[in-house]
Amino acid sequence: MPPVLNFATPTTSLTTMPELPEVETTCRGIAPHIEGQTVKQVIVRQPKLRWPIPETFSRTLTGLRIQSVSRRAKYLLFTTDSGTVLLHLGMSGNLRIMPTGQAIGKHDHVDFVFNDGTILRFNDPRRFGAVLWTTEPAEEHPLLKHLGPEPLLSDFNGELLYALSKNRKTPVKSFIMDSRIVVGVGNIYANEALFMAGIQPTRHAGKVSLAHYRKLAESIRVVLQQAIEQGGTTLKDFVNEAGKPGYFQQQLRVYGRAGLPCASCQRPLTEIRIANRSTVFCSTCQR
Ligand SMILES: [Zn+2]
Repeated sequence: MPPVLNFATPTTSLTTMPELPEVETTCRGIAPHIEGQTVKQVIVRQPKLRWPIPETFSRTLTGLRIQSVSRRAKYLLFTTDSGTVLLHLGMSGNLRIMPTGQAIGKHDHVDFVFNDGTILRFNDPRRFGAVLWTTEPAEEHPLLKHLGPEPLLSDFNGELLYALSKNRKTPVKSFIMDSRIVVGVGNIYANEALFMAGIQPTRHAGKVSLAHYRKLAESIRVVLQQAIEQGGTTLKDFVNEAGKPGYFQQQLRVYGRAGLPCASCQRPLTEIRIANRSTVFCSTCQR
């Protein structure tokens, strides 16, 4: 029987939302426990998530074998012979692996019960998460079809950003947070990556040079990769603990540091709002 494992429970005030690194860590964390397993039953205690869980969901999944667990943007995909489960953690969701017989807590909305007694439990206080089923190829699903490339794969690079940014007057920060351009660049990571690349967040996307976009693509990769590595550490720390894991602790250079000295030039960092999101940058180092 597996111990109780917790994945991606946001607990600090920095942000409350699972971002791509938390979803990636969740994916890596749950995969070894459920890949190859056959679904015995799905217990849906609360079907009213962001979209209702279909009434037939449990019946559909019972007896199916999970071939693989993967991630696309912030969706977890459980692939079976006859279709795919799309699971989104929303604003506050988390998944735990546990043996049968654990007490059911508040907001424990869905249990995936497997033949060997392992349970994958979905908890989501705010219920913006989603548990969906599709028999189409997952990449054709309306929620996934129009998404841009994965930032950690090689088809994402400076050339792509540069090509897509032509004549765009939108701030470069909003541009890289647009999931049709690239997925998974949340507000914190956008702030950090722009600082690392030396680009002012308000710059029109169409005015950023190819050289800067190359730097930016690399910076996005680095900040996400660092968070995933931190997540791995966090995960290790919390294995076998029934308590709450912390949100990924990460060295942030600009986000949440308005008015504090820039790590590079020591001048105070500036805070503005772009698309109503906190935007912190160094007006000296970022041009
Ligand atoms: Zn500076």
